Amino acid sequence: MHAKKLRAQGRFVRSNLPNSIEYYQSQGIKLKGTGAWRDALCPFHQDTKPSLRVNVERGGYKCMVCGAHGGDVLAFHMHRYGLGFIAAAKALGAWVGGDE
Ligand SMILES: [Zn+2]
Repeated sequence: MHAKKLRAQGRFVRSNLPNSIEYYQSQGIKLKGTGAWRDALCPFHQDTKPSLRVNVERGGYKCMVCGAHGGDVLAFHMHRYGLGFIAAAKALGAWVGGDE
């Protein structure tokens, strides 16, 4: 068998994404309440009362005021820092392999 590619591309490994609660804490997002959905101040608009709903089981988030939303901590990281999928996955340690 011949290797078809000399340059490895790497791949996304979802299970390597950080724990949702620890991730949001590391981002300075204070989660209030208990259960799957927590409340927090939204970092995407000038928020004065907790408008952001965070699902700590999946990492998803949704702002009831500005409409910012995503399905997991990767989406949050992409949104907050303006990163593409791969760059955000690398930043969170969820991109494995590849040359970079
Ligand atoms: Zn918002």
